[in-house]
Amino acid sequence: MRNEIKVDINHLQYIRCPTCKKKIFVSVFEIKYLPAIISPNNKSGLIKIPTNVCHYCGAVSTDEILIKYNQNNGDKKQSLPDEK
Ligand SMILES: [Zn+2]
Repeated sequence: MRNEIKVDINHLQYIRCPTCKKKIFVSVFEIKYLPAIISPNNKSGLIKIPTNVCHYCGAVSTDEILIKYNQNNGDKKQSLPDEK
């Protein structure tokens, strides 16, 4: 049986854009080209790397950047706990 942690999403902090402080993002990809010569199956391909674009100002931020920024700058009462 799995351990399930129940989280009330209403109590979670919104993540905000480091540039404009707004909170709507679009999920996009960066794409890297994988040449056949170094590909495990000897075929060339594309590797998609998920990232986030601010809907308002267009700033691109990885999940890591958003977590770090919001840990340091979030509302004190609801800021994200430090990850050790
Ligand atoms: Zn923004």
